[in-house]
Amino acid sequence: MTIFKNALVQLKNAAEAAGLDPVVVEVLKHPKRILQVSVPVVMDDGAVKVFEGYRVQHNDARGPFKGGLRFHPKTDLDEVKALAFWMAIKCAVVNVPFGGGKGGVAVDPKKLSSGELERLSRAFIRAIAPVIGPDVDVPAPDMNTTPEIMAWMVDEYARVTGKFQPAVITGKPIAIGGSLGRTAATGRGGLFALEEWRRRANLKAKDLTIAVQGIGNVGFWFAKLAREAGYKVVAISDSKGGVYATAGINLDKALAYKKEHGNLKGFPADKEISNERLLELPVDVIVPAATENVLTDKNAGRVKARVVLELANGPTTPEADFKLAKKGITVIPDVLANSGGVAVSYFEWVQNRTGYYMTEAEVNDKLKKLMVEAFYDVAGLATDKSLTLRTAAFALAVRRIAEAQQARGWR
Ligand code: NAD
Repeated sequence: MTIFKNALVQLKNAAEAAGLDPVVVEVLKHPKRILQVSVPVVMDDGAVKVFEGYRVQHNDARGPFKGGLRFHPKTDLDEVKALAFWMAIKCAVVNVPFGGGKGGVAVDPKKLSSGELERLSRAFIRAIAPVIGPDVDVPAPDMNTTPEIMAWMVDEYARVTGKFQPAVITGKPIAIGGSLGRTAATGRGGLFALEEWRRRANLKAKDLTIAVQGIGNVGFWFAKLAREAGYKVVAISDSKGGVYATAGINLDKALAYKKEHGNLKGFPADKEISNERLLELPVDVIVPAATENVLTDKNAGRVKARVVLELANGPTTPEADFKLAKKGITVIPDVLANSGGVAVSYFEWVQNRTGYYMTEAEVNDKLKKLMVEAFYDVAGLATDKSLTLRTAAFALAVRRIAEAQQARGWR
């Protein structure tokens, strides 16, 4: 099954379980617009290499399309379509006035020099410039894209349009209108969601162990903040594998080690652990924070955690979802759990447009309010209608999108 098909199964499940408007469901099965671009880049040796890039604009009933740009060798149209669709759902769940979009380039950025990466970033934004803009479509960082890359893109967009418009892209460095708190926002938002689950389950943070797959921007900040909140983070990983320590892992030391050695191999811990085994550890919380389809029909039966906090997009296939639900394992779905990133992107966009800049404490407070409201909107519907959190999140989002479509007379 392709990732986009998985996303459509999730939509179908929600439509059946919650009796959603069939017209809106039909509309949401299709992206509104797909742009595919070829991006020629002059490499350091003078040769020209052409990269494939995409921007998918799924739905903009509630506001401008919104969603990250990914640089990854496995990025393809199917993946970007799924991610754009999930963004439309996510923005509606966390109730920010955006639709859903996503983009990406099929490239391994680790194989590029800094100059090549900058030329690729600038060329890609030039290629999609005709379809983006602060009122139209607002990109942001995703896998392997950073605030520095966002800065190059904003600058290139200013050259193309003749006007510096920071609100065209979020996740920028602070110096050019980025929001305080944005870098940690997705991880922090994930922690707020986990905290609400924990309170409802009447558990104490100090009694809960956590394993995090993918210690990148999202996974690192989540793990660091979870540890500070009293949870015990006992396993972490990156694309090369992971480490496990029963006494807990010091995240700052792990980050420094990864910076020095490129990965976690050899980081002092009780033992090394594969990415596959990490998800099967006897911990309370597993946190896929790297990539799609890591919990499948094959390994879902071996998951021992009480809760899966999905910080990556699309880590669980529909078959795995079914198995996890049958085992009584709660999945806090991506469209809720990782929506903190887009929530603070929304604050960044507002700050750019109004010229009033908030303190980090203000941003974090507002993030908490949105996340807690979204959690209870979803959890309340799940309890009322006996739905999983994912199905409830989809049902809530589709209803909100339907309301906007109807108000605009789209049907
Ligand atoms: P990132 O590039 O900063 O980090 C990705 C991490 O995952 C790296 O440590 C990498 O080594 C690791 N990794 C890659 N493939 C792996 C694999 N197969 N197994 C284990 N680890 C692997 O990316 P990020 O921004 O942290 O994004 C991670 C996930 O979170 C993605 O699914 C992304 O779509 C999602 N997400 C990101 C944001 C955001 O604000 N950055 C917001 C919402 C969702």
